[in-house]
Amino acid sequence: MSKYLGPVCRLCRREGEKLYLKGERCFTPKCAIERREFAPGQHGRTNAGRSDRMSDYARQLRAKQKARRVYGILERQFQRYYGVANRRRGLTGLNLLQALESRLDNVIFRLGYAPNRASARLLVTHGHFMVNDVRSDVPSMLLKAGDVISVRESSRKTTYFKNLGDEAEPRNVPAWLERNLRGLSGRMIRFPERAEIDGNLNEQLIVEYYSR
Ligand code: SF4
Repeated sequence: MSKYLGPVCRLCRREGEKLYLKGERCFTPKCAIERREFAPGQHGRTNAGRSDRMSDYARQLRAKQKARRVYGILERQFQRYYGVANRRRGLTGLNLLQALESRLDNVIFRLGYAPNRASARLLVTHGHFMVNDVRSDVPSMLLKAGDVISVRESSRKTTYFKNLGDEAEPRNVPAWLERNLRGLSGRMIRFPERAEIDGNLNEQLIVEYYSR
C-alpha cells in the first residue's frame, strides 16, 4: 500500500470525527469537520448515520483505520506493531497503543516540538533530533523509558527552533514525558498508561480485527 498523499481532512471526515491531524487549525472553525460533518465522496451525505448499521467487521476495520490515521502509519507497519504488541507480556491492545505512543515522531509531537505528527516526522527525517546524543532520522524508532531526545546543535540556529520556545510553551506535555524547553530536549520517563492515551481509540476492536 502506498503513502496517502490526499487531503488529510478527508481522513477525519471519513472517520466522522476530528483526528487532529493538522495542529492549530483543528481547533478553529476552519476545521473541515465543523464545516462538512459528513463522509467524503458521492454518497457521503446519504450514508450519514450508517454507523448504527455497521457489521462487527466494519467496526473493527474502522477502529484499526482510525488508529492508523491518527499515527500516520501504513498498513504493513501497523501490522508489525501489532506483532510486537502480541509478543509482549500483558494486554495486546494496551501494548499496541504504548508502542505507537513511543514512536520518536509521536514523542516529539507530544513534547510540543511539532504542531502535529506529520511535521514531527518531517523534522526527524531531516535529521534535527538526537536520541541519547546520537543523531536519529528514523521517525518509527521506538523509544524506551529513560531515553533522552534533544535538538541537534546545528539545528538550534534555524528560525524554526529559535522560535520554538514561544510556540511550544502553551502545548501541554503528558505526565509520562518530561520537557526541558530551554534546553530543547525531553525525556521519556515511562510508557503511558491507558488513561493517558487518546480515549477515542478502541484497541479492543483492533485486536479483534487482527485475531479474525
Ligand atoms: Fe481533522 Fe484537523 Fe482537518 Fe479538522 S482541521 S478535519 S481535525 S485534520
